[in-house]
Amino acid sequence: MVQFHLRGRGIADLRVLDIMGRLPREAFITPGYANQAYADNPLPIGVGQTISQPYIVALMTQCLTLTGTEEVLEIGTGSGYQTAILASLARRIYTVERFYELAESAQAVLARLGFDNIEYYIGDGSGGWPDVRTFDRIILTAGIPDIPGPLLDQLADPGWLVAPVGPETSQMLQIVEKKEGRITTQSVCACRFVKLIGKYGFNA
Ligand code: SAH
Repeated sequence: MVQFHLRGRGIADLRVLDIMGRLPREAFITPGYANQAYADNPLPIGVGQTISQPYIVALMTQCLTLTGTEEVLEIGTGSGYQTAILASLARRIYTVERFYELAESAQAVLARLGFDNIEYYIGDGSGGWPDVRTFDRIILTAGIPDIPGPLLDQLADPGWLVAPVGPETSQMLQIVEKKEGRITTQSVCACRFVKLIGKYGFNA
């Protein structure tokens, strides 16, 4: 997976390649799909949601330029696979999931794998973490029509946010940078994610 789907498609961040080579992806996969754990495609994880394809997980993580000191907000815990990668590369992860059953199962897997630097919240994350605070990095793992203002307020300065932005059928992966009070946006590539559903996202 690392050699062919990640390195072969231009993922160059050695820390990202290293952790994705070591983390057992099958631990996050619904049992019936375990034989596809290292293929480069999304897989169903229940309640109509999917675990993202490994390439896009690697690309989004690389875009976050993590060094190990960061506090990261993740919206869309899903299977917890992206959460595990973030927790391996940053200091502390705050992850939000709207489905109780996904959050519960992700938390159980991540605890079993020994992660102890993750905070969980079950609810609508489209407006950010429930406390008033900021994060060095923010990642959205579901597609959103526009970047919500409350999420930009929760982005530290300097800070970076990565999200798939656009209509339901196709989004653009964007990197939003906040620096000295100014916001700039860079487009990375076209992508397609499940919908981020909530107050500042899509309607259910
Ligand atoms: N990173 C996950 C991707 C899961 S798909 C993985 O690799 O498994 C996106 C997830 O976002 C889904 O689990 C979906 O339920 C969740 N989601 C959608 N809208 C949300 C919202 N408003 N708040 C929190 N989670 C949300």
